Amino acid sequence: MFKPEVREAFRVAALAGVPQLIGIVSDNKGGYCAQGWLNRLGIPIDYISVIHGCHLCGATMQTYHKNMGISSPLLLLVHLNNDHRLDWLGLAEKIPVTEE
Ligand SMILES: [Zn+2]
Repeated sequence: MFKPEVREAFRVAALAGVPQLIGIVSDNKGGYCAQGWLNRLGIPIDYISVIHGCHLCGATMQTYHKNMGISSPLLLLVHLNNDHRLDWLGLAEKIPVTEE
């Protein structure tokens, strides 16, 4: 699942006013989606753990990326960014975080 540093990274994006993108990792002009922002910071995203759909809405398939499921934390992040349209602070609050 997500580590606390992921939550912090989204708070940083909000405070810095990073433009948030839908459906694209980066626009090469300083805008990023959730995945792109974590890539930018060099924070690894868990794509191995298996989850069974979205903890918020129960969906098991994405809407924006129609042929993609929601079966890993990475795919959940894509879903929260593109389908729920959560902003940076929304992502920080709503992602499931494993405290260590
Ligand atoms: Zn959902």
